[in-house]
Amino acid sequence: MLTGQTPILVLKEGTRRERGKGALSNNIAAAKAIADAVRSTLGPRGLDKMLVDSMGDVVVTNDGVTILKEMDVEHPAAKMLVEVAKTQDQEAGDGTTTAVVLAGELLKRAETLVEQNIHPTLISQGYRLASQKALEVLQKISEPVEVTDTATLKRVAITSMASKSVSYNREKLGDIAVKAITAVAEKTEKGYYVDLDNIQLIKKQGGSMTDTELIEGVIVDKEKVHTAMPNRVASPKIALLDAALEIKKTEIDAKIEINDPDQLNAFLQEEENMLKRMVEQVKKSGANVVFCQKGIDDLAQHYLAKEGIYGVRRVKKSDMEKLAKATGANIVSKVSELTADDVGVAGLVEERKIGEDSLTFVTGCVKAKAVSILMRGGTEHVLDEIERSLDDALNVVAVAVEDGRVVYGGGAAASELALHLRDEAAKVGGREQLAFESFAEALETIPRTLAENAGLDPIDILIELRKTHKAGQKHAGVNVQLGKVDDMKALFVVEPIRVGRQAIESATDAAVMILRIDDVIASKGSPAPPGGAGGPGGGMGGMGGMGGMGGGDFGED
Ligand code: ADP
Ligand code: MG
Repeated sequence: MLTGQTPILVLKEGTRRERGKGALSNNIAAAKAIADAVRSTLGPRGLDKMLVDSMGDVVVTNDGVTILKEMDVEHPAAKMLVEVAKTQDQEAGDGTTTAVVLAGELLKRAETLVEQNIHPTLISQGYRLASQKALEVLQKISEPVEVTDTATLKRVAITSMASKSVSYNREKLGDIAVKAITAVAEKTEKGYYVDLDNIQLIKKQGGSMTDTELIEGVIVDKEKVHTAMPNRVASPKIALLDAALEIKKTEIDAKIEINDPDQLNAFLQEEENMLKRMVEQVKKSGANVVFCQKGIDDLAQHYLAKEGIYGVRRVKKSDMEKLAKATGANIVSKVSELTADDVGVAGLVEERKIGEDSLTFVTGCVKAKAVSILMRGGTEHVLDEIERSLDDALNVVAVAVEDGRVVYGGGAAASELALHLRDEAAKVGGREQLAFESFAEALETIPRTLAENAGLDPIDILIELRKTHKAGQKHAGVNVQLGKVDDMKALFVVEPIRVGRQAIESATDAAVMILRIDDVIASKGSPAPPGGAGGPGGGMGGMGGMGGMGGGDFGED
């Protein structure tokens, strides 16, 4: 349209811009690089990554979302893939690597289609339809699981931990995860609901992973404030205070002039009396255990101990809330207003020594289901990985209980979906057929990668998988131990349907969104410039390195 010679500048000077296929292939290259970064960790035989941050802190994990969160990703398209992992983690609690690998693969295949002159919009449409179909089939091939079926739920937990370094302890951790979830699962009109906030995870270095235990109650990571206090209080009456058992310091600087020792005595006596009255108020409420969110004065500690009251100070707010829920106590913010009505109950309050520290255990809570998992491990890194693994395990069991449906893993469900999509492809015909086929191939990347990571020949495995699925064996997947195609149902490789569903949804969303971008406009100083004519491949190895490119190369067209 523009025929004039003088360029019209609509964008601020220094703005970098890339359009058309160049922008697309650059975005795809970035997305693929992210997928490649986590691919080798997928599955039980996947390896771990060691991540070192700028402070020199080390994380060793194969948890997709953790790896991506730690990586300093700058490219905008790459960031969108990191978002896929985060969404997956929030919604399903597992399957983060799967989702990212799938998204990368969808884009990789889309690139091939674009090269065949199929318009990105058509590919996007095809992908959307294919994803809908895949979700339908997933629902159809899923199987029900009851909350009482703890054996299957445990297998769900174990499958999620198969790829973690803690997996030699999976039986024990699997038991713990299932017990914890079934303890807090609430039956509602619409089925079961699990609030993971009711499960407290506490890490204590020392001991070994096998010492990790489930406590039916709340653990407060604090000791009693005074040694003369009782060690255990059976059938405790519990007060929760959001106020200090201390004399308030004045807000403004006040000066009191005392020029006579009697006056001083009277002053100190008054302070003492105030503290005494506070403790008396606690006693009057009937409480023999007090959790205080703020401080407890030395003198108040002494009076509490004298009354045989177990006291803990500087309790975390979140712990206070858990205690309130579990014991039925009200959190009171003025000591003078504490009454018997605010006091809660439990079966036992007890101080226990765990490793170096003493912790307070509140067990036998009847008001609400509250469970805690006390994790033990030799080093901080081991503890962190136990936490990540338990987090996955708790999440998958929770969503399995909530949805009540499971599918089979090891690439079994993915292969079955691919088979159906290929059948469907023939029906849709036209160019969308190609998108369906590409979607099917992308899904097959899951078993393919599982095989690759196990050192198997991925082509052989894929051919075998297609054959067995075609022959009606819906549960055929990759036996990574024996290196062959096997029945995943018989091997108990089982996953909640939500993990697969969410992976398909968010991978498709991200792929479609990236496919529809044909113009990248980056303002001056933004960290991630679109790549130049060099296109994909070049410079993608180091994610962070992309930011270093100058802005000058990217003028208008
Ligand atoms: P993600 O971050 O996607 O959860 P993982 O590294 O946890 O990645 O690997 C999950 C994959 O490993 C899933 O496809 C799951 O079905 C598969 N898997 C888990 N246990 C087994 C097993 N025993 N045999 C084969 N595949 C398994
Ligand atoms: Mg996993």
